Amino acid sequence: MTQVNRQWRLISRPVGMVKESDFEWREEPIPTPNAGEVLVKQIYLSLDPANRIWMNEQDSYMPAVVLGDVMRGIGLGIVSESKDPRFNQGDLVQAMIGWQDYAVLPANTLTALPKGLPIPMTTYLGVLGHIGLTAYFGLLDITHPKAGETLVVSAAAGAVGSLVGQIGKIKGCYVVGIAGSDEKCQWLKNDLGFDATINYKTENVAKRLADLCPKGIDIYFDNVGGEILDAVLGQINKRARISLCGLITGYNAEKPKPGPYYFPNILVKSAKVEGFIVTDYLHRSEEAIKDLGQWFMEGKLKFRVDVVDGLENAPLAINKLFDGSNQGKLMIKVFEETN
Ligand code: NDP
Repeated sequence: MTQVNRQWRLISRPVGMVKESDFEWREEPIPTPNAGEVLVKQIYLSLDPANRIWMNEQDSYMPAVVLGDVMRGIGLGIVSESKDPRFNQGDLVQAMIGWQDYAVLPANTLTALPKGLPIPMTTYLGVLGHIGLTAYFGLLDITHPKAGETLVVSAAAGAVGSLVGQIGKIKGCYVVGIAGSDEKCQWLKNDLGFDATINYKTENVAKRLADLCPKGIDIYFDNVGGEILDAVLGQINKRARISLCGLITGYNAEKPKPGPYYFPNILVKSAKVEGFIVTDYLHRSEEAIKDLGQWFMEGKLKFRVDVVDGLENAPLAINKLFDGSNQGKLMIKVFEETN
């Protein structure tokens, strides 16, 4: 067992893609908890596109990470030592552990997770974690899909997008997924049951949408923004609903881009665009977990994870989200599950 707490601290604001030199590797003593606190050992660290936003100087829906601090990140861990009656050694928890082996955290910031269910531990960062809640509420609560409607999803082979498309199918929608490789498109169609796909790197998105959505687009679940959002806006139906989940095309941009060109369609089609942050829905997580858990156990929701070994690889691994080389929910294995 490591006797030090290995950490990545943010030391400069990245320009464009993240570089390892934006971080400093530190080895510090393992901290000890005081009353009301818990020491958590991290097993899986979730790498999320939002991490890149938190590295910027401007605050977003969370404050910017302060230079010199441990990089913020959601993690799944085991309680090593508890000074709070609500937690015992060995409990499985989810928390903002950060890019480090161990964190001492106030007990009221931890989410206790059930142990011993016949599901992989990684599921708690995916289908049954913040990713599942994002897909569930971002689609169902914001767009209220009806059977027979046309749903388009971008970053469709990613963690959130792949669940959104499958939930859309469960609700009876005709689902078109947009992704960045033929392999991803084949997975969406052959394994997940999407009706049609578009490889935005090799095909003309607007033209393909016109071919694949002859009745127009009723719902768009946007993970990317940029030119794909514009291509969709050009083809929305009356009373279309757009769930604005993410704008990944802009996360590494040095200057904001103007747009979108087809914005007036929101007015003339009486359409709705609504942004959301998954934390808006934490108070309703039980509702989502009940449905997601049931669909997952019934085999109606498939999910893949991309696990990169070793905390030392976090700064470079995060770029997989931006070059599209991640194959599912990206996370770092910090320690073996059995440790
Ligand atoms: P993914 O697993 O989907 O990984 C990101 C994917 O985005 C990549 O695999 C890549 O796939 C695609 N991508 C990257 N750059 C571009 C680009 N320039 N144009 C088009 N596609 C691109 O990540 P998540 O599922 O974790 O996140 C998906 C989105 O959801 C993000 O925008 C994220 O910020 C957002 N999100 C929002 C939340 C909220 O509360 N609102 C919560 C969680 C996530 P490809 O190969 O197809 O290009």
